[in-house]
Amino acid sequence: MFTLPELDYSYDALEPHIDAKTMEIHHSKHHQAYVDNLNTALAGKDDLLAMSIEDLCQNLDKVPEDVRTAVRNNGGGHYNHSQYWKYMIKDGKALANEELQKDLEATFGSMDGFKEAFAKAGMGRFGSGWVWLIQDGAKLTIVSTPNQDNPLMDTEADLANRNILLGCDVWEHAYYLKHQNKRADYLATWWNVVNWETVAQNYKK
Ligand code: MN
Repeated sequence: MFTLPELDYSYDALEPHIDAKTMEIHHSKHHQAYVDNLNTALAGKDDLLAMSIEDLCQNLDKVPEDVRTAVRNNGGGHYNHSQYWKYMIKDGKALANEELQKDLEATFGSMDGFKEAFAKAGMGRFGSGWVWLIQDGAKLTIVSTPNQDNPLMDTEADLANRNILLGCDVWEHAYYLKHQNKRADYLATWWNVVNWETVAQNYKK
């Protein structure tokens, strides 16, 4: 069975950038529903229930067709949100990894250039989805995925050489109470709570 992870911080920790009510609903209702629906979809399928959520996302072809869409949506929702909570922390945490900083600057021109490209990808996602910073081989790349998909599900990619560093939820439920329709405002203020220590830990040299 999959379970809802606890947050490392309180629901109001990310104020004023992300409000407490949004965090509470997002974690205790939305994420909980992905977990519950995933467990329901996989009821009785003990081999699949025993997989890690990463493995499940990477092996959707092993999921019976009649529940594959439910597992894709809710398994993706569970993986994505479990990561998203870890990408954030009260007051943010600065990037202290020189190698990653140099890589970001070389790839995107500057740190601001990286943030602009990330926001552009988030703004370019029509409807609901996610924007990610990944390492594709040795190269830092920004990608966006629809719904609750994530880069682990891209079976065309060489997953052995693919690594997710950071991801941001651009579903309206992540920002609507505070920022209403202004996704750009959410994406701009989000950097204030990003835990760059987590991003640096995810970075593979
Ligand atoms: Mn969400």
